[in-house]
Amino acid sequence: GSLVAYADAGPTNGVPSIASTANVDEKKKKVVVLGTGWAGTSFLKNIKDPSYEVQVISPRNYFAFTPLLPSVTCGTVEARSIVEPIRNLVRKKRVDIRFNEAECYKIDAENRKLYCRSNENNNLNGKKEFVVDYDYLVIAVGAQVNTFNTPGVVENCHFLKEVEDAQRIRRTVIDCFERASLPTLDEEDRKKILHFAVVGGGPTGVEFAAELHDFVNEDLVKLYPGLQEFVKITLLEAGDHILNMFDKRITTFAEEKFRRDGIDVKTGSMVIKVTDKEISTKEMKNGEISSMPYGMTVWSTGIGTRPIIKDFMTQIGQANRRALATDEWLRVEGCDNVYALGDCATINQRKVMEDISAIFSKADKDNSGTLTVKEFQEVIDDICERYPQVELYLKNKQMHNIVDLLKGSKEDVAKESIELDIEEFKSALSQVDSQMKNLPATAQVAAQQGAYLAHCFNRMEECEKYPEGPLRFRGSGRHRFRPFRYKHLGQFAPLGGEQTAAQLPGDWVSIGHSSQWLWYSVYASKQVSWRTRALVVTDWTRRFIFGRDSSR
Ligand code: FAD
Ligand code: MG
Ligand code: MG
Ligand code: MG
Ligand code: MG
Repeated sequence: GSLVAYADAGPTNGVPSIASTANVDEKKKKVVVLGTGWAGTSFLKNIKDPSYEVQVISPRNYFAFTPLLPSVTCGTVEARSIVEPIRNLVRKKRVDIRFNEAECYKIDAENRKLYCRSNENNNLNGKKEFVVDYDYLVIAVGAQVNTFNTPGVVENCHFLKEVEDAQRIRRTVIDCFERASLPTLDEEDRKKILHFAVVGGGPTGVEFAAELHDFVNEDLVKLYPGLQEFVKITLLEAGDHILNMFDKRITTFAEEKFRRDGIDVKTGSMVIKVTDKEISTKEMKNGEISSMPYGMTVWSTGIGTRPIIKDFMTQIGQANRRALATDEWLRVEGCDNVYALGDCATINQRKVMEDISAIFSKADKDNSGTLTVKEFQEVIDDICERYPQVELYLKNKQMHNIVDLLKGSKEDVAKESIELDIEEFKSALSQVDSQMKNLPATAQVAAQQGAYLAHCFNRMEECEKYPEGPLRFRGSGRHRFRPFRYKHLGQFAPLGGEQTAAQLPGDWVSIGHSSQWLWYSVYASKQVSWRTRALVVTDWTRRFIFGRDSSR
């Protein structure tokens, strides 16, 4: 439909004319989006209502496809292929979207002001700072690397979070090989320089270790003959297993594959200090401390809170949390018109037990003081929507319907005659809240939240007319927004050698070459633009034919 509208408007390049909207501008509500990562970009891609004026603020003027960052570290994919300029993404939209390359360093929710600063190295004669007002604020600034205050990490380790990090790692790997080839060195020196330590056995650390192993064994051995015997990759993990968020079968397969590949997997080993030459670890079992020399260390142990979020949480009474708490509609608790999503936020899921009396009395339509199966069945869908843990509980306990749940407290009666009073109702539902889990900090969650929130903004008017109640009942005819629901589509763990482990919904596990092809196709399809999709596929093809590029 939009094409037709523009054709009527005269010669445009698909860009809406600003002049024609100038008089409505005053009425336009201003939405400010902080961040152009997974959450922010997904919001921008999905916002459609032209009655908003959107301003985007981010220190990076591009979106980066983070799942392919580990591939950038070894040149399997080029950095340019996984980034898309944000201005490209919003250019053709009918919504008025502006971008400023700057970092927001302070949020003042009381006065609805954002304090921003353009990037450090811009010399603007003291004109670096500016203040932005908003009607609605969407916080999507993500998280930063967590060093757990381990001494020496910031100074001596590489991180793998941003595109620049991946490029730096790539240069350093090659650097190590060049240095190790110099004729002046003895064997010990070569071993030190070619020792690559990876800290953190999560998906990123594991994928990087696998990628590096392939790079060394498929490409570098041919270019640096004689060095292979000195190369060592160590993967350090404080927990008992690597990839502990995955199914056991995947963990075991990965550990065994790495062992066969010669990657030294040291579990139960916590890094306590890193100097410019050595990395010190403590064995979790016996507290034994040891040190080993390294050539390069990559630190990938999870995420921490950005300073701006810490400061904001203190302001709004959410101190001492890891992430901003929101309700299920992604509204930040304790302030108006502020939304947070992605890695900088967590949803405070309501507990059934907190609302149990309200649920009971709503369900008990005839005010008899007891609930019949029929009464309960009429509200169960709404309860499951508002409290997803109920559905999870039924599923995990392999109960097929709520009658099973209610029967638990009244075993000996036929299902038609089950009637529960409030105490019995409480005890039937007493375990369901234990099913609540925080959503993982992943691109999948962030992207779904961005799309969800944009959808809410597109229907905001409708929502303001019909604000949601605590529970919606069938037939009440009220429109409102459903709370955010995450749909898990599965997870990959690339393990090198063209093998990938995939864990799909329903605990379906697949490991090997076939999942590697699934991985290629999913990651190609998830690209934000046809341009990056073409680039990524070209990079993969180039790598298959010519191998990876090993110039610095
Ligand atoms: P980000 O994507 O980090 O975006 C934050 C944005 O905010 C950035 O644009 C940043 O520049 C900007 N910003 C920062 N500070 C400010 C400020 N003060 N003011 C304004 N803007 C600011 N997830 C998966 O689901 N699958 C994977 O395979 C996967 N692989 C990964 C591999 C790596 C190497 C990494 C690092 C992450 C991976 N993830 C993966 C996780 C995924 O990238 C994150 O969960 C996701 O990026 C979170 O999205 P976000 O929008 O919250 O934050
Ligand atoms: Mg973002
Ligand atoms: Mg991102
Ligand atoms: Mg989150
Ligand atoms: Mg009743």
